[in-house]
Amino acid sequence: MTFTTRFAPSPTGPLHLGHAYSAILAHDMARAANGRFLLRMEDTDLERSKPEWETLILADLEWLGLSWDGPLHRQSEHIADYNARLEILAETGLLYPCGCSRGDIRAALAAPQEGAEHQVYPGTCRSRSMDSRLPGDALRLDLAAALRQLKGHDLSFEEHGPAHAGHHIVTPETALRDIGDIVLSRRGEHIVAYFLASTFDDADQGISHVIRGEDLFDFTPIQVILQHLLGLPTPIYHHHRLIRDDAGKRLAKRDDARAIRQYRDTGISPAEIRRMVGL
Ligand code: GLU
Repeated sequence: MTFTTRFAPSPTGPLHLGHAYSAILAHDMARAANGRFLLRMEDTDLERSKPEWETLILADLEWLGLSWDGPLHRQSEHIADYNARLEILAETGLLYPCGCSRGDIRAALAAPQEGAEHQVYPGTCRSRSMDSRLPGDALRLDLAAALRQLKGHDLSFEEHGPAHAGHHIVTPETALRDIGDIVLSRRGEHIVAYFLASTFDDADQGISHVIRGEDLFDFTPIQVILQHLLGLPTPIYHHHRLIRDDAGKRLAKRDDARAIRQYRDTGISPAEIRRMVGL
């Protein structure tokens, strides 16, 4: 299988040094392996995603000297397809509608942001049937039922990143404790949430290696469970270190001082950016 990886930014702010590191690392690893480097815009958060950010991200990547293979995959253009596949999953009886508070759901469904903790859903709506689904409801996965269905499956993944290198087994106990009944479709918007969209896309785009920040390591078991439920392959994962500011905090979207655009404006070269992130 050809080494295929991707950079998957959410266009909700400018690229900063941490994103640049992630993109350059994935790009260089793909080129070194004679493989493919794909680009995916994770823009299903319609409120926070902006075309201006996408334009800037593309310009920054080009300025960094990164070229990607094939056309840009924009998640917002595939919503009907994601939803059709979500309905197939709904027919398995593993999903239930949930009308719980917005704040709770926001935390669970947007592409995980730096600093956001995943809240394990307490299961308030678990006994509701799909027939009781209201227009404003989200859809959640009944994780305990899903794990019963996956009994006998090898729920595990290979990690090549330095901090957690090795073979990781996802046990039902830890999944129930750490993951819980995640949101697969957003409240009111009928748009599949980050976990599901990126799981579909990694499979559709033939991703052999997911290279991304260390902050997403803890979410990988969710994606492994979804891959098994959907009959999709599990790629190899490589979670890399995060670029931190002088105070040791990881960079956030609002960290404007470290936005690639700012560096470009002050005349810093792409080679210097590579050096700054230790590449
Ligand atoms: N869109 C996610 C982010 O910007 C990345 C998800 C991934 O690489 O799997 O944090």
